[in-house]
Amino acid sequence: MEKWPLGVFASIDAGLGVHLDVVRELGIPTVHLHAPSRASRTPERAKEFLARLKDLGITITVVFGGFEGESYADIPTTARTVGLVPPATRAARAAEMKEIADFAKILGVDAVALHVGFVPHDTADPLYRGAVEVTREICDHCRGNGQRLHLETGQESPEGLLAFHNDVARDNLFINFDPANMILYGSGEPIAALREVGRFVRSVHCKDATWAANPGHEWGAEVPLGQGDVGMEAFLQTLAEIGYYGPLTIEREIPQEPERQKAEIGAGVKLLQSIKAKLL
Ligand code: MG
Repeated sequence: MEKWPLGVFASIDAGLGVHLDVVRELGIPTVHLHAPSRASRTPERAKEFLARLKDLGITITVVFGGFEGESYADIPTTARTVGLVPPATRAARAAEMKEIADFAKILGVDAVALHVGFVPHDTADPLYRGAVEVTREICDHCRGNGQRLHLETGQESPEGLLAFHNDVARDNLFINFDPANMILYGSGEPIAALREVGRFVRSVHCKDATWAANPGHEWGAEVPLGQGDVGMEAFLQTLAEIGYYGPLTIEREIPQEPERQKAEIGAGVKLLQSIKAKLL
């Protein structure tokens, strides 16, 4: 298999990603797919969708779950609404995540991923135990499907993420490393964090961001690839160090501006190709 095939975060109905015609136009061979709405998660739709992907020559490498009611408006809102940590929605979202994993299986995809949410730092907090238990439950469901579960990085420090991974104690639990999220959430310097958690990284997002004045209290800013504080060459160099040569999946979360999103992803593709040419 080609080392570091390019990828992009994509959607087929609602969602943050680019549409498949844009993926095709940019000549990108792989996608992380934002799970479609429940109405589209049927075996019939999966079949249609697979035929379309085959026509377009696109492979899905990871399916990402997301849930109604999640808001990334600011850090406190994210903590309150995102993922499997909030108790009020936990059981329903766990059930939905299993449905998403089953849909991914029909699509022939062996990895599903999600933002688990803001896991408390205090391991005695009931929310921490709850997050560990629900993550185990989803891992076990994925195991039955022959799938891995990838935790999106961002809200935890690398040490917190490793401790959580250790407490869940499932061998199909891995990490989707998003360097920009480390900056956006103020949870750690991304290159050092990648080295720390590298042995569990099985997918990545190529995304860039600049630090906030008060990291961890306010958002940093997401910016086009190569214009932020990640350092894309250092990022790829470090991926090589940890032995990761899987897809480089560009994520640019500005679905409200599709023309700009397409142009910036196109520029991101060129940047990654030039770095690949240098490092491979
Ligand atoms: Mg991401």
